[in-house]
Amino acid sequence: PERPPLARANPIRRTSTGVKPVDSSDVGNDLENILLTEEQLRGRLDELAEQIDRDYAGKDLLLVGVLKGAVMVMADLARRLHHDVEMDWMAVSSYGSGTKSSGVVRILKDLDADLTGRHVLIVEDIIDSGLTLSWLLSNLRSRGPASVEVAAMLRKPDAAKTEVDVRYIGFDIPNEFVVGYGLDYAEKYRNLPFVGTLAPHVYSS
Ligand code: 5GP
Repeated sequence: PERPPLARANPIRRTSTGVKPVDSSDVGNDLENILLTEEQLRGRLDELAEQIDRDYAGKDLLLVGVLKGAVMVMADLARRLHHDVEMDWMAVSSYGSGTKSSGVVRILKDLDADLTGRHVLIVEDIIDSGLTLSWLLSNLRSRGPASVEVAAMLRKPDAAKTEVDVRYIGFDIPNEFVVGYGLDYAEKYRNLPFVGTLAPHVYSS
């Protein structure tokens, strides 16, 4: 995908009081490129919501979000559905160290909902190795649901190596570490309304 410089691709940034220009004192300074603009994310969310509405017509639906990264996509997807859905949350830790998935998953917060007989849609921010997701799928499938599917906003190339079947995908992105739209680096940048890559100085400082 085309990756224009930040200043041109996103000259404004939302704040609690509206929008303001990105300037040298802003978080914009930490970013290298925008991969997906707010408009691109919005357009794709409209399409995904339409598809989900169609597929689950007449069925009760439980959206399961994985904290913390999925908060943005969960909120944006759920509000687009013309469907009475329930939302529940799970917190897991999958990264042992650095940015590589270890496949060892620990439940930090379990679901409140009983999944017996429910149609479950896991809402994910990003699938990288897919290890977290395959663990989650088998865990939730063991709880007696009517169905379990996955909606992920972003997917990286390595995810294709795992046998995880993802029904709804926002965007396939290059194999780069991205932040924004729920995704963090050291707990920062989650509130950016777009998806971007960080400038090298952020990692070296
Ligand atoms: P997986 O088990 O698929 O390798 O990793 C999934 C989790 O790793 C995601 O839910 C996310 O928390 C984290 N992750 C994977 N790739 C990225 C990335 O490019 N940026 C950020 N901020 N987190 C990532």
